[in-house]
Amino acid sequence: MKPFKGERIFTPGPVEIPDRIREVLGRQIIHHRTPEFTEAFLETRELFKQLVDCKEDNFVFFASSGTGAMEASVLNFFEEGDKVIAVVGGKFGERWVELGKRWKLKVVELEVEWGKSVDPEAVERLLKENPDTKGVLVQASETSTGVYHDIKALADITRDSDALLVVDAITALGVYSIKPHEWGVDVLVSGSQKAFMLPPGLSMLWFSERAKSQLTDRAYYFNVREELKKQTEGQTAFTPAISLILGLREALLILLEEGMDKVESRYRLISKGMERAMETLGLSIFPKNPSISLTTVKPEDISSEALRKEMLKLGVRVAGGQGKLKGRIFRISHMGMDITDMPVVLSVLEIALKRLGYRVEFGSSVGAYLEAISAGLGYE
Ligand SMILES: *Cc1c(COP(=O)(O)O)cnc(C)c1O
Repeated sequence: MKPFKGERIFTPGPVEIPDRIREVLGRQIIHHRTPEFTEAFLETRELFKQLVDCKEDNFVFFASSGTGAMEASVLNFFEEGDKVIAVVGGKFGERWVELGKRWKLKVVELEVEWGKSVDPEAVERLLKENPDTKGVLVQASETSTGVYHDIKALADITRDSDALLVVDAITALGVYSIKPHEWGVDVLVSGSQKAFMLPPGLSMLWFSERAKSQLTDRAYYFNVREELKKQTEGQTAFTPAISLILGLREALLILLEEGMDKVESRYRLISKGMERAMETLGLSIFPKNPSISLTTVKPEDISSEALRKEMLKLGVRVAGGQGKLKGRIFRISHMGMDITDMPVVLSVLEIALKRLGYRVEFGSSVGAYLEAISAGLGYE
């Protein structure tokens, strides 16, 4: 019995698109070589500056998914043969390694047990052993395991070294109030279909003054220097993802109207509520230091795939595991969700568990969630 209104999407990318953004995306296209586009583009850039809490114009947008901006980081800030440390504790950490190797960097892999955060001291030790390191590549929120790596602590280490800190914040920027300039991050990457609540196809790449001084010209399409020159003038080197840029302006307005501190508090509250809900159901949270962007669950004696499929029958899509976690976990995204959206997914989870023979007291997880939420709710 599928709900007639269609599927609810609780996957960590793509995420559901708020009505305000859908209204903008539904409009007729405008041409990009016009004052109208330039004005909207420059306004979007001003809003993005507010989001990253930075006065400088050091960022570009690309028409690509998030991985494009990851590749751009590898190409624009490093030369062939440069040594980099990649933190590998999940599928997206592995992507840094693959990208680095493909572009002929010397990649030193810092293996982290999947489900755990990197120990900043381990990075510090490895940097001491490899003083010629030019970069440390890491995820903020490792979406494949649901872990948050402590970016602030890592920046405290890299800022006193010659290594640039390159952060894939694809499921972190727009959820956490990240201040790359203040924290000492050098390169920050994001993508449209996660915390920005847009369709896929737009990526963002922010960089520090230090990183800017090391720009290379190895890339053509993803050339940061050329894009930056155009984009600060309100244009782009190639045809931009026009509708997504206009959508991004709306997304940034939504985030900034709520305020990034409050956005982060909302996601923290959802995260806490979901943790209590899973506890009540006897389901364990997989990561040790969970990202507040998603809830990652590792059921003990029930197949996560069976559960995911059962939930889909009731019109709720959650994500399974990736790589070596395939079939072992399921993931529920919080991105683009209000606190009142989560009881939907919990209700469907309860029904799915029951149908798979699990003992459930109906309403128990929803009740635990609501308890946690109302305890943490500030009314204005
Ligand atoms: C989704 C995701 C990516 C990949 O982004 P695409 O848009 O699929 O290219 C990379 N890193 C993290 C942490 C992600 O969540």
